[in-house]
Amino acid sequence: MTAQLNPRGDVAVLVAAAGSGVRLGPGGPKALRLLGGEPLLVHAVRRIAAAPSVGAVVIAAPPDDVDAVAALLTPIAPVIVVAGGAHRQESVGAALAAVPPDLPFVLVHDAARALAPPDLFEAVAAALRAGASAVIPVLPVVDTIKEVGPDEEVRGTVDRSRLRAVQTPQGFRREVLAAAHAAAVDPLTDDAGLAEKLGVRVDCVPGSDHALKITRPFDLALAAHLLSSGA
Ligand code: C5P
Repeated sequence: MTAQLNPRGDVAVLVAAAGSGVRLGPGGPKALRLLGGEPLLVHAVRRIAAAPSVGAVVIAAPPDDVDAVAALLTPIAPVIVVAGGAHRQESVGAALAAVPPDLPFVLVHDAARALAPPDLFEAVAAALRAGASAVIPVLPVVDTIKEVGPDEEVRGTVDRSRLRAVQTPQGFRREVLAAAHAAAVDPLTDDAGLAEKLGVRVDCVPGSDHALKITRPFDLALAAHLLSSGA
């Protein structure tokens, strides 16, 4: 059954799903790899569509797979599918250009974080509604972090109490994300980094263990375990 998005939702979710997934090993675009028998992108969109704040979903798909992705997702939820770009920032830019008018908030999400729960989208949306310009979900860093030189020689130990591991969805007032992308020079791996460069204040909300980024085969195995235990 197709989930209907909330017509009164004030959030557009952009899903970066155009990556190749080389680090997962051979097997085609990462967003279309199977987890529990369904593509990662299907898991991601099902959770996004279950978040009541969401009024629109725009997917940046691998350019060769735009029609296939649209066909795949139509039974799940009404989505807009555009061709992604050569790097993540270009893909997000293409999706941003397709956001329907009148939605004040935009969340940028990685398809690779396929099990990010609906509550996480709601928490980011709530922080924006409460007045934040940019919001990121974060987790504390549990490992001790060392800085090393090119020869793997330890140069120093970083104070981990001041570090956070950053997830998606990252949320923005729409005009903030548009300005950040318009001003971007070098590609960055996250959108909040672009906003920081403009001097925009970025606030944190608690992240979720279920929003892990599925990058390597081990992550896929962990996600399969989480899925079978009800994530
Ligand atoms: O490569 P990485 O794991 O950092 O990619 C993060 C997210 O960005 C993934 O969901 C991937 O599909 C997406 N991406 C994209 N367009 C690209 C490269 C990556 O949408 N050209």
